Amino acid sequence: MQKTDFLVIGTGIAGLTYALKVARQFPNKRVLVMTKAAADETNTKYAQGGVAVVNDLEKDSFEKHIEDTLIAGDGLCDREVVEIVVKEGPDRVREIIEWGARFDKEKDGDYKLGKEGGHSEFRIIHHKDITGWEMERALLDAVSRQTNIEIIKHCFVVDIITQHHLGYLVTKSAPDIECYGVYVLNLQTNRIEKILSKFSLLATGGNGQVYRTTTNPSIATGDGVAMVYRAKGRIENMEFIQFHPTALYEPGLRGQAFLITEAVRGDGGILRNKDGEAFMARYDERKDLAPRDIVARAIDSEMKRTGTEHVWLDCRHFGKENFTEHFPNIYQKCLSIGIDITLHMIPVAPAAHYSCGGIKTDEWGKTSIKNLYVCGECSSTGLHGANRLASNSLLEAMVFAHRCYLDVIDKVEASAQISALDGDPIAIGLEGAAVPDWNATGTSEPKEMILITQSLKELQQVMSDYVGIVRNDIRLKRAMRRLDLLWEETEKLYESSSLSPQLLELRNLITVGYLIVKGASFRKESRGLHFNTDYPGKSDLVQNIVL
Ligand SMILES: Cc1cc2nc3c(=O)[nH]c(=O)nc-3n(C[C@H](O)[C@H](O)[C@H](O)COP(=O)(O)OP(=O)(O)OC[C@H]3O[C@@H](n4cnc5c(N)ncnc54)[C@H](O)[C@@H]3O)c2cc1C
Repeated sequence: MQKTDFLVIGTGIAGLTYALKVARQFPNKRVLVMTKAAADETNTKYAQGGVAVVNDLEKDSFEKHIEDTLIAGDGLCDREVVEIVVKEGPDRVREIIEWGARFDKEKDGDYKLGKEGGHSEFRIIHHKDITGWEMERALLDAVSRQTNIEIIKHCFVVDIITQHHLGYLVTKSAPDIECYGVYVLNLQTNRIEKILSKFSLLATGGNGQVYRTTTNPSIATGDGVAMVYRAKGRIENMEFIQFHPTALYEPGLRGQAFLITEAVRGDGGILRNKDGEAFMARYDERKDLAPRDIVARAIDSEMKRTGTEHVWLDCRHFGKENFTEHFPNIYQKCLSIGIDITLHMIPVAPAAHYSCGGIKTDEWGKTSIKNLYVCGECSSTGLHGANRLASNSLLEAMVFAHRCYLDVIDKVEASAQISALDGDPIAIGLEGAAVPDWNATGTSEPKEMILITQSLKELQQVMSDYVGIVRNDIRLKRAMRRLDLLWEETEKLYESSSLSPQLLELRNLITVGYLIVKGASFRKESRGLHFNTDYPGKSDLVQNIVL
């Protein structure tokens, strides 16, 4: 068993930003950061386009960024939260620059600004086409210099510990659910350990792996959302899954697909169908730079109409020098599979990309569970509403990491708990009661991994076929029936097997799939990223769906 005052789960932009701030505030306290993979294996590392932030108040304004975000969110954004993120964003960006992140500059020293779908101005700062890689690098560097942060890799957090684990009945309506820490599967020892913590922060990222193809890496299995749902916390708006319109199409590929950032269209890339037609003009007056949901649906419709598995992205007019200056990584990737973008068009198709919903928070990153904070992609703060505006998520993660940190210091200082924390981090929350060790009696190694791998394939297939870009009631009902069966089978396996990351991820992904289908079934309208052909219009009832 370990005890800590500050526990952070996740080593992406959200977790590391928070960890750095708390560690600097309390240099004598240890901040424990856990990840189930290598430290840099995160969604953050793969972000390409950049960070949307108002740089130049003469050319751009907070009002315009706020308005663009609200329009994309299609009536469901929380205006107060949008204003917070847009207005606090520049300070957070300055901070990460001070910590060592580099963004591309013009010759005169100003930042180069990109433009993506739904933005009325050029405001995306970026590091070539590997912005996330650069931000993750800078954060990990800063963390390595902060001696009171300890990163523990390859530790899979299984569940958050609440009163449930002390033998009390915890229901959704309980007003006082409290987090005491987590159970983790140490992948080096294969043992389940108990970590007790006064303040825990979940920054577990997205859930793209619930679909057959996704731009997300393999870690994106919605673990945080599933854990909080099991602990009876509040989850909202899970039906709003953003499909990126332009992932590189590679025949037969499953899992992570390479992203062709929207910034390529921002710089003049043109979508064409199988006949070479620049079809976006038929769907929206903003053409290739319409918001992502519109572009993804247009591509889906063109693929269905023409019976193809992809459309084309035409960049032949860029010229090599121009393209490689901004997109060297994309250029190399395409070349590696025989596509010279100066001669050939790039085959692209939509892939699951971003989860707009997640664990419900207030404006300080607090969840419905006491002492449990959340920020980054696994959260639902109210910023994105029914559709995320491109490049708003890295910004949101930094702003909310900061807000979680401010709330934690307030709590610590207001109640002078820090001295009590010196003694026993859990004394206050638990009032002396003991958290039991993990009980693994009656379990054994699963005999056949195929029971897990095949169920995962089935889940991804069901979600892609029935709960993708375009939905309807029959497909959603079918999906739910199939998920019920997968759930039942997986629960049996879970009860009888010793735990493995594969089994835990499958179980979490089934929960996430269930929450997406449930949210989609409750929403009797089409709004933002959720499009149901049985209800093609918007309902007058503008509401978040909280599960
Ligand atoms: C290809 C791609 C391009 C993108 N481009 C942009 C862009 O240009 N601009 C933008 O704003 N956004 C972009 N995004 C979205 C953005 O990158 C993510 O929303 C953001 O990085 C999420 O950060 P995070 O810290 O919340 O989670 P992540 O960076 O995904 O980190 C999650 C962490 O949690 C850990 N974890 C998860 N579950 C467990 C568990 N059970 N136990 C222990 N550890 C766990 C993981 O190992 C990982 O360390 C892009 C995303 C992708 C995939």
